Amino acid sequence: MATDKPQRIVMKFGGTSMAGTERIRRVAGLVRAQAAGKGGARNEVAVVVSAMAGETDRLINFCREANPLHDPAEYDVVVASGEQVTSGLLALTLQSLGERARSWLGWQIPVRTVQSHAKARVEAIEAPEMLETLKQGEIAVIPGFQGVSQDGRVTTMGRGGSDTSAVAVAAAIGADRCDIYTDVDGVYTTDPRIVAKARKLKAVTYEEMLELASVGAKVLQTRSVSLAMKAGVRLQVLSSFVEDSANASADDLLGTLIVSEEEMDQMVEKGLMERQLVTGIAHDKTEAKVILTRVPDKPGAVAHIFEPLADASINVDMIIQNVGRDKGETDVTFTVPQADLARAQALLEDRRDLIGFNRIITDSQIAKISVVGVGMKSHAGVASTMFRALSDRGINIQAISTSEIKVSVLIDEDETELAVRVLHTAYGLDAVE
Ligand code: ADP
Ligand code: ASP
Ligand code: MG
Repeated sequence: MATDKPQRIVMKFGGTSMAGTERIRRVAGLVRAQAAGKGGARNEVAVVVSAMAGETDRLINFCREANPLHDPAEYDVVVASGEQVTSGLLALTLQSLGERARSWLGWQIPVRTVQSHAKARVEAIEAPEMLETLKQGEIAVIPGFQGVSQDGRVTTMGRGGSDTSAVAVAAAIGADRCDIYTDVDGVYTTDPRIVAKARKLKAVTYEEMLELASVGAKVLQTRSVSLAMKAGVRLQVLSSFVEDSANASADDLLGTLIVSEEEMDQMVEKGLMERQLVTGIAHDKTEAKVILTRVPDKPGAVAHIFEPLADASINVDMIIQNVGRDKGETDVTFTVPQADLARAQALLEDRRDLIGFNRIITDSQIAKISVVGVGMKSHAGVASTMFRALSDRGINIQAISTSEIKVSVLIDEDETELAVRVLHTAYGLDAVE
C-alpha cells in the first residue's frame, strides 16, 4: 500500500462542537484520526478551539453586570477564559486516548496582536517552540479568539474570532490545510437554518466568501477569509457531527472548499460546479438605521456628520441622502452597528448645532439582505430581479447599496426570513427535492 505523505494540518472546532465532555470526546476522535494519517504516515496536527456554545455570551454578560462601561482590557481577560477551558479539556481528553497533546495559550505561542481590545488584529505569530513539538508528534491545542498585545495584555479578536486564529496559525506554521469544523457541513447558498431548501456548495471563491461573511453569513469570520486569501491558506468548512467520526470516510467529511477564481473556473470546466449568477444570500440583523432630518443641503454638511463617527471607529454602512427639500434641506439616512448606536447618537447630538439637523430618528428593527455572486460582474439584471421579487411580496426597500459582486437592501426585520426565502427561489437556488 502506498504511503501518503505526512501533512501539517490545522483543525478548528466551533462552540457547538466543544459544548460538553461528550462532544469534546468526539472532537478528540476526529483529531486523533487526522493525526494517525493514512498508510502509516503520521500527520502534524494543531487544533484551534472555541469556547463552549453560549459561554462567550455568558462571560460578556458578567462584564456588563460588573461594570456597564467596562475597561476593554479587563473585558478581554474575562471573555478569553472560555477558550482556555476548552483547550485544556481537549488536551486532557486527547491524553486520555493515549495521544501526546498540550495546550498553547495565546501569550505562550505567542499570538501577537495590535493593542485594540475586543477587536484585535493578528500582527505576527512566530511559533518555533510549538512547531518543534508538532514535529515530534505532539498535538498542539490552541485556544482561538485570544492573543497578546505589545504590552503583554490579553486581547480578543471579535466575535467569531477563532476562525481567524485558525487561519493565522495555519499561515504561520505553513500548514497544508486549515479545516474549519462547525455545526453545519459546509457553506450553503444561504443559512440552512432559515431556508430548508438551501444547497451546499462544493466550492466558493475567496472573494465571494469574503463578501458573504461581511454581509452576515457567520459561518466564517470575515477576517479569517481575507487572511486566508492573502496568505494562500487552503481553507475548508466541514461538519464535526459525522456519525462515528473515527471511522468516517473522506466523503463523509467532504464540506466546502474556499478556492481561487482560477480553481473555480477549472471546476466549472470539469462539470464539478455550475456557474450561477448569484452564489449566496445572507442576512444581517445587527445594524440600526439612523435618519437625520432637515440637514442643510450644502457642501460640508455630510462631512460634519460622518467625521466624528469615523473618529470614534463607528462603521457606517449604507448611506442615502434624500432629494433636497424646498428650503435647501435634505434628510440623511445611514446604518451603524446596533452595538454602536447609543454612542453614535450621543456624538451627533453633541454636534447638533454644527451639523444643523432638526431631528434624529433611529430604528433597530431593520435587516440587511444581500445577494452575492461573481457572476454579477458580467451580467446585468441581478438587482432588478431582487427588487421585483421583494415587491411582489409587498416587502418595502428602505435603502440599497451595491458593490461589484453584491447587492444589499435594507428592510423591516420582521420580513427577514420571508425575503431570504423569496430571493433564494427567485435566483433559482432552491435544492430540487
Ligand atoms: P461555530 O461555533 O462553529 O464557529 P457559527 O455559529 O459561528 O459556528 O457558524 C455556523 C453557523 O453559520 C451555522 O449554524 C449557520 O446557521 C450559520 N450560517 C449562516 N449562513 C450560512 C451559510 N451560507 N452556510 C452555512 N452556514 C451558515
Ligand atoms: N468564543 C468566541 C465567540 O463566541 C470566538 C469564537 O467562537 O470564534 O465569538
Ligand atoms: Mg463561528
